[in-house]
Amino acid sequence: MSHDRHVDYLHDGHLYHPHGSHVDEHRVEIDASHPEDCTPDHACGGHEASHSHGADCGHAAAPHGGHTDYLVDDHLHHPHADHCDDHGPLVARELTRTDAWPCRQIRPR
Ligand SMILES: [Zn+2]
Ligand SMILES: [Zn+2]
Ligand SMILES: [Zn+2]
Ligand SMILES: [Zn+2]
Ligand SMILES: [Zn+2]
Repeated sequence: MSHDRHVDYLHDGHLYHPHGSHVDEHRVEIDASHPEDCTPDHACGGHEASHSHGADCGHAAAPHGGHTDYLVDDHLHHPHADHCDDHGPLVARELTRTDAWPCRQIRPR
């Protein structure tokens, strides 16, 4: 399943995609576009080098394979040692309270 061409919604570390009359819960799969690679040279300017991702860091958390990444400028950052790995593009935006959601089938844990 490609996450490159549609918009998903992130909420509390979950990824949702409105699909017809219901909402799918998505997870970014590990694939060629979204590798689980270490990219120590990744420096995209999305945030200060000293930034450390976490629960309240200001970036939306996104599920990727078996781990959690953070959405920075439409791609996934995976905090790793003293750098961020680039885990590929994700077009998503954070679901806010004021967003009109197409249906009520989301049942976050
Ligand atoms: Zn790394
Ligand atoms: Zn980046
Ligand atoms: Zn962050
Ligand atoms: Zn980062
Ligand atoms: Zn990742």
